[in-house]
Amino acid sequence: MLGAKVFTRAFTSRTVEGFTGAVGNTPLITLKTLSERTGCRILGKAEFQNPGGSVKDRAALGILQDAEKRGLINPGGTVVEGTAGNTGIGLAHVCRAKGYKCVIFMPNSQSQEKIDLLRMLGAEVHPVPAVAYENPKNYNHQARDYAKNLDNAIWTDQFDNTANTEAHYVSTGPEIWEQTAGQLDGFVCATGTGGTLAGAGRYLKEKSAGKTQIWLADPPGSVLYSYVSSGGKLNERAGSSITEGIGQGRITNNLGTFVNDLSGALHIPDEKSIAMIYELLDTEGLYLGASSALNVVAAVELAQKLGRGSTVATILCDGAYRYQSRLFSKAWLKAKGLEDAIPQHLRKYAVL
Ligand code: PMP
Repeated sequence: MLGAKVFTRAFTSRTVEGFTGAVGNTPLITLKTLSERTGCRILGKAEFQNPGGSVKDRAALGILQDAEKRGLINPGGTVVEGTAGNTGIGLAHVCRAKGYKCVIFMPNSQSQEKIDLLRMLGAEVHPVPAVAYENPKNYNHQARDYAKNLDNAIWTDQFDNTANTEAHYVSTGPEIWEQTAGQLDGFVCATGTGGTLAGAGRYLKEKSAGKTQIWLADPPGSVLYSYVSSGGKLNERAGSSITEGIGQGRITNNLGTFVNDLSGALHIPDEKSIAMIYELLDTEGLYLGASSALNVVAAVELAQKLGRGSTVATILCDGAYRYQSRLFSKAWLKAKGLEDAIPQHLRKYAVL
């Protein structure tokens, strides 16, 4: 029989309605090498398989569906957001699919590739000066003000609109629960808005009656690790990280819905994240961005804390494609002082 010798796995297939129907239902991947090495089950939710390429497709769709349900936007309306990355890309896709106009305010420090991609997806992009959140000219405030002055328009407000968390409570969380058949000791991920951690975390904690521990992972330059481990002290933001899209200087409404229910937090330095990007490529064939790699480092550390035989899941947020000119560039790694963080035998992947 044709194919019988080639295919050794069973295929499941599904038919969905349009772009929005293809959001979610991503596979949960057992990271085999790390699982074998630790004697635990390390699982990564393949969010890079969403049709817009990242975990943020879920939030973009959830926020828009909520706004439609509440009558805040009608056909032909305008969706406005302040975003430097994946949320804008997710919104631009969903807006095309649903027939809305999409307007994105982003700091002018962002790469030309991101601006070009958003424009190719039909979004109107306004690069604005890269100033702190406290400054009224910050891209988020400009997005809010722009939407306020337009008819039939919404500011999606990904950081503080809890429809973001809700999207993960009704999709990411239940999918992980079902995919692990409820056998899950820990869940950990980093946060930008906090939607993924708060939504999936709350669902998993409730379903397991508190047995699944939920942990936050945090990069350098973010205040969340010290906030959680000090029991609620908010420091000034200091330092920076190569991990884009994660880390935060405040407790957003989304994270605020769950931050007091966390079991703990892990601080992951950039040296470990960059090495894990290369290791996942080498051992698993997975080509992932830095936030995914940081999450996997955290999942391994949490599994080791929870003990041999434990099962821990995390989020593989997006692919490396959006960052490859940096993450795989020898000159960039050198400029960041990260060359030596990559084990010698993996340096061959830095081909740019
Ligand atoms: N990883 C990447 C690459 C992201 O763009 C984001 C969103 N900013 C996250 C992780 C974090 O997701 P969340 O906003 O749900 O906390």
